Amino acid sequence: CGIVGILGGVAAAPRLVDSLKRLEYRGYDSAGVATLVGGELQRRRAEGKLRNLEGALEKTPLEGSSGIGHTRWATHGAPTVGNAHPHQAGRVAVVHNGIIENYLDLRDEITAAGAVLDTETDTEVVAHLLNFEIAKGASPKDAVATVLPRLNGAFALAILFAGEDDLLIGARKGSPLAVGHGDGEMFLGSDAIALSPFTDRITYLDEGGWAVLTRTSCEIFDAGNQPVSRPEARSSVTA
Ligand code: GLU
Repeated sequence: CGIVGILGGVAAAPRLVDSLKRLEYRGYDSAGVATLVGGELQRRRAEGKLRNLEGALEKTPLEGSSGIGHTRWATHGAPTVGNAHPHQAGRVAVVHNGIIENYLDLRDEITAAGAVLDTETDTEVVAHLLNFEIAKGASPKDAVATVLPRLNGAFALAILFAGEDDLLIGARKGSPLAVGHGDGEMFLGSDAIALSPFTDRITYLDEGGWAVLTRTSCEIFDAGNQPVSRPEARSSVTA
Protein backbone atom coordinates (compact mmCIF):
# COMPACT_ATOMS: atom_id res chain seq x y z
CA CYS A 1 0.00 0.00 0.00
CA GLY A 2 1.31 3.43 -0.85
CA ILE A 3 0.57 7.10 -1.29
CA VAL A 4 1.76 9.77 -3.69
CA GLY A 5 0.78 13.39 -4.20
CA ILE A 6 1.93 15.86 -6.84
CA LEU A 7 1.72 19.60 -7.40
CA GLY A 8 3.53 19.66 -10.68
CA GLY A 9 4.19 21.52 -13.89
CA VAL A 10 3.09 18.73 -16.26
CA ALA A 11 0.31 16.13 -16.43
CA ALA A 12 0.07 14.39 -13.05
CA ALA A 13 -1.63 11.08 -13.91
CA PRO A 14 1.30 9.32 -15.64
CA ARG A 15 3.65 10.50 -12.90
CA LEU A 16 1.30 9.26 -10.17
CA VAL A 17 1.20 5.81 -11.79
CA ASP A 18 4.99 5.76 -12.25
CA SER A 19 5.43 6.54 -8.57
CA LEU A 20 2.83 3.96 -7.49
CA LYS A 21 4.71 1.31 -9.48
CA ARG A 22 7.72 1.92 -7.26
CA LEU A 23 5.52 1.22 -4.23
CA GLU A 24 4.23 -2.10 -5.63
CA TYR A 25 6.73 -3.95 -3.44
CA ARG A 26 4.53 -3.12 -0.44
CA GLY A 27 1.66 -5.17 -1.87
CA TYR A 28 -1.85 -3.96 -2.82
CA ASP A 29 -5.20 -5.13 -4.15
CA SER A 30 -6.49 -2.03 -5.99
CA ALA A 31 -5.35 1.43 -6.99
CA GLY A 32 -6.58 4.86 -7.96
CA VAL A 33 -5.72 8.45 -8.77
CA ALA A 34 -7.48 11.82 -8.60
CA THR A 35 -6.47 15.04 -10.31
CA LEU A 36 -7.87 18.54 -10.58
CA VAL A 37 -9.21 19.34 -14.03
CA GLY A 38 -10.39 22.94 -14.33
CA GLY A 39 -10.67 23.03 -10.53
CA GLU A 40 -12.88 19.92 -10.41
CA LEU A 41 -11.88 16.61 -8.83
CA GLN A 42 -11.72 13.72 -11.30
CA ARG A 43 -10.95 10.13 -10.34
CA ARG A 44 -9.96 6.84 -11.98
CA ARG A 45 -9.84 3.66 -9.92
CA ALA A 46 -9.36 -0.03 -10.65
CA GLU A 47 -9.26 -3.41 -8.93
CA GLY A 48 -6.10 -5.46 -9.06
CA LYS A 49 -2.81 -4.50 -10.61
CA LEU A 50 -1.70 -1.03 -11.71
CA ARG A 51 -1.95 -2.30 -15.28
CA ASN A 52 -5.74 -2.14 -14.82
CA LEU A 53 -5.56 1.46 -13.61
CA GLU A 54 -3.36 2.29 -16.61
CA GLY A 55 -5.99 0.67 -18.83
CA ALA A 56 -8.71 2.85 -17.28
CA LEU A 57 -6.52 5.92 -17.84
CA GLU A 58 -5.86 4.95 -21.46
CA LYS A 59 -9.59 4.60 -22.06
CA THR A 60 -10.48 7.86 -20.32
CA PRO A 61 -7.36 9.98 -19.82
CA LEU A 62 -7.07 12.31 -16.86
CA GLU A 63 -5.70 15.82 -17.34
CA GLY A 64 -4.44 18.10 -14.60
CA SER A 65 -1.06 18.73 -13.02
CA SER A 66 -2.16 18.41 -9.38
CA GLY A 67 -3.09 14.95 -8.13
CA ILE A 68 -3.02 12.18 -5.56
CA GLY A 69 -2.57 8.42 -6.03
CA HIS A 70 -2.98 5.28 -3.92
CA THR A 71 -2.35 1.58 -3.82
CA ARG A 72 -4.76 -0.05 -1.38
CA TRP A 73 -4.36 -3.02 0.90
CA ALA A 74 -7.97 -3.39 2.02
CA THR A 75 -8.61 -3.51 5.75
CA HIS A 76 -12.25 -2.32 5.84
CA GLY A 77 -14.40 -3.21 2.84
CA ALA A 78 -13.73 -5.60 -0.04
CA PRO A 79 -11.08 -4.74 -2.67
CA THR A 80 -13.61 -3.38 -5.18
CA VAL A 81 -13.49 -0.35 -7.49
CA GLY A 82 -16.03 1.38 -5.25
CA ASN A 83 -13.86 0.93 -2.17
CA ALA A 84 -10.65 1.91 -3.98
CA HIS A 85 -9.16 5.27 -3.05
CA PRO A 86 -9.22 8.24 -3.63
CA HIS A 87 -12.46 8.75 -1.70
CA GLN A 88 -14.40 11.90 -2.37
CA ALA A 89 -16.94 13.90 -0.41
CA GLY A 90 -17.98 17.16 -2.04
CA ARG A 91 -14.90 19.30 -2.53
CA VAL A 92 -12.46 16.90 -0.85
CA ALA A 93 -10.56 13.84 -2.14
CA VAL A 94 -8.50 11.69 0.22
CA VAL A 95 -6.07 8.78 -0.04
CA HIS A 96 -5.23 6.90 3.15
CA ASN A 97 -2.96 4.11 4.29
CA GLY A 98 -3.65 2.60 7.71
CA ILE A 99 -6.78 2.29 9.82
CA ILE A 100 -9.12 4.91 11.34
CA GLU A 101 -10.03 3.02 14.52
CA ASN A 102 -12.97 5.22 15.55
CA TYR A 103 -14.54 5.24 12.08
CA LEU A 104 -17.79 3.62 13.26
CA ASP A 105 -18.47 6.48 15.69
CA LEU A 106 -17.53 9.01 13.02
CA ARG A 107 -19.75 7.24 10.48
CA ASP A 108 -22.71 7.53 12.86
CA GLU A 109 -22.03 11.21 13.37
CA ILE A 110 -21.72 11.87 9.65
CA THR A 111 -24.82 9.95 8.62
CA ALA A 112 -26.80 11.64 11.44
CA ALA A 113 -25.68 14.94 9.90
CA GLY A 114 -27.14 13.85 6.57
CA ALA A 115 -24.15 12.56 4.61
CA VAL A 116 -24.61 9.53 2.38
CA LEU A 117 -21.68 7.13 2.48
CA ASP A 118 -20.60 5.54 -0.80
CA THR A 119 -18.12 2.96 0.48
CA GLU A 120 -17.48 0.33 3.14
CA THR A 121 -14.11 1.83 4.06
CA ASP A 122 -12.93 3.45 7.26
CA THR A 123 -11.32 6.14 5.08
CA GLU A 124 -14.43 7.77 3.66
CA VAL A 125 -15.29 9.42 7.01
CA VAL A 126 -12.17 11.56 6.68
CA ALA A 127 -13.33 13.04 3.36
CA HIS A 128 -16.79 13.77 4.81
CA LEU A 129 -15.49 15.35 8.02
CA LEU A 130 -13.21 17.64 6.00
CA ASN A 131 -15.99 18.50 3.57
CA PHE A 132 -18.32 19.41 6.46
CA GLU A 133 -15.74 21.86 7.80
CA ILE A 134 -15.26 23.41 4.37
CA ALA A 135 -19.02 23.66 3.86
CA LYS A 136 -19.13 25.57 7.18
CA GLY A 137 -16.64 28.05 5.71
CA ALA A 138 -13.32 26.75 7.04
CA SER A 139 -10.21 27.00 4.86
CA PRO A 140 -8.75 23.63 3.79
CA LYS A 141 -5.89 24.12 6.25
CA ASP A 142 -8.23 24.92 9.16
CA ALA A 143 -10.44 21.99 8.20
CA VAL A 144 -7.46 19.63 8.43
CA ALA A 145 -6.37 21.17 11.75
CA THR A 146 -9.87 20.52 13.14
CA VAL A 147 -10.32 16.99 11.79
CA LEU A 148 -6.89 15.39 12.39
CA PRO A 149 -7.14 15.39 16.21
CA ARG A 150 -10.48 13.55 15.86
CA LEU A 151 -8.92 10.57 14.05
CA ASN A 152 -7.74 7.62 16.16
CA GLY A 153 -5.52 4.91 14.76
CA ALA A 154 -2.77 4.83 12.19
CA PHE A 155 -2.79 6.90 9.05
CA ALA A 156 -0.91 8.52 6.25
CA LEU A 157 -3.18 10.87 4.31
CA ALA A 158 -2.90 12.97 1.18
CA ILE A 159 -5.73 15.40 0.53
CA LEU A 160 -6.70 17.37 -2.58
CA PHE A 161 -9.38 20.09 -2.64
CA ALA A 162 -11.62 21.13 -5.53
CA GLY A 163 -10.90 24.69 -6.66
CA GLU A 164 -7.44 24.60 -5.04
CA ASP A 165 -5.05 23.74 -7.86
CA ASP A 166 -1.99 24.83 -5.85
CA LEU A 167 -2.67 23.04 -2.57
CA LEU A 168 -1.88 19.58 -1.27
CA ILE A 169 -2.07 18.56 2.39
CA GLY A 170 -0.44 15.48 3.87
CA ALA A 171 -0.55 14.04 7.38
CA ARG A 172 0.94 11.08 9.18
CA LYS A 173 0.48 9.18 12.42
CA GLY A 174 1.77 5.64 12.66
CA SER A 175 2.24 5.32 8.88
CA PRO A 176 5.11 6.91 6.96
CA LEU A 177 4.86 10.01 4.74
CA ALA A 178 7.47 12.34 3.31
CA VAL A 179 7.50 15.66 1.44
CA GLY A 180 9.55 15.91 -1.74
CA HIS A 181 10.82 19.35 -2.81
CA GLY A 182 11.10 19.98 -6.54
CA ASP A 183 11.88 23.01 -8.65
CA GLY A 184 8.56 24.85 -8.62
CA GLU A 185 6.95 21.49 -7.86
CA MET A 186 6.08 19.77 -4.57
CA PHE A 187 5.38 16.13 -3.79
CA LEU A 188 4.17 13.74 -1.12
CA GLY A 189 5.13 10.07 -0.98
CA SER A 190 5.13 7.08 1.34
CA ASP A 191 8.92 6.93 1.07
CA ALA A 192 11.99 8.14 -0.82
CA ILE A 193 11.46 5.42 -3.42
CA ALA A 194 8.04 6.84 -4.32
CA LEU A 195 9.60 10.28 -4.62
CA SER A 196 12.69 9.13 -6.52
CA PRO A 197 11.32 9.91 -10.04
CA PHE A 198 10.79 13.53 -8.97
CA THR A 199 13.36 14.67 -6.44
CA ASP A 200 16.03 13.62 -3.94
CA ARG A 201 15.25 16.53 -1.60
CA ILE A 202 13.09 15.08 1.13
CA THR A 203 11.54 16.15 4.43
CA TYR A 204 10.29 13.31 6.60
CA LEU A 205 7.27 14.21 8.70
CA ASP A 206 7.44 13.51 12.43
CA GLU A 207 4.89 11.31 14.14
CA GLY A 208 1.60 13.27 14.18
CA GLY A 209 2.98 15.86 11.77
CA TRP A 210 1.23 17.36 8.79
CA ALA A 211 2.25 19.51 5.85
CA VAL A 212 0.53 22.20 3.79
CA LEU A 213 2.12 22.37 0.36
CA THR A 214 1.98 24.66 -2.63
CA ARG A 215 4.28 24.41 -5.64
CA THR A 216 6.66 26.85 -3.97
CA SER A 217 6.06 26.46 -0.23
CA CYS A 218 5.95 23.86 2.51
CA GLU A 219 4.52 24.62 5.95
CA ILE A 220 4.83 21.86 8.54
CA PHE A 221 2.81 21.48 11.74
CA ASP A 222 3.10 19.15 14.71
CA ALA A 223 0.36 17.03 16.32
CA GLY A 224 -0.70 20.08 18.36
CA ASN A 225 -1.11 22.14 15.15
CA GLN A 226 1.93 24.28 16.01
CA PRO A 227 4.24 25.27 13.11
CA VAL A 228 7.56 23.43 13.22
CA SER A 229 10.66 23.46 11.07
CA ARG A 230 11.93 20.14 9.82
CA PRO A 231 15.25 19.50 8.08
CA GLU A 232 15.52 18.67 4.41
CA ALA A 233 17.54 15.52 3.68
CA ARG A 234 19.16 14.20 0.51
CA SER A 235 17.90 10.80 -0.50
CA SER A 236 20.38 8.34 -1.95
CA VAL A 237 17.61 6.44 -3.74
CA THR A 238 18.01 6.93 -7.48
CA ALA A 239 15.21 6.82 -10.00
N1 GLU B 1 -8.09 1.16 5.76
C1 GLU B 1 -8.12 1.67 4.44
C2 GLU B 1 -8.98 0.81 3.54
O1 GLU B 1 -9.22 -0.32 3.82
C3 GLU B 1 -6.71 1.87 3.85
C4 GLU B 1 -5.98 0.57 3.61
C5 GLU B 1 -4.53 0.80 3.13
O2 GLU B 1 -3.67 1.03 3.98
O3 GLU B 1 -4.31 0.73 1.90
O4 GLU B 1 -9.43 1.25 2.54
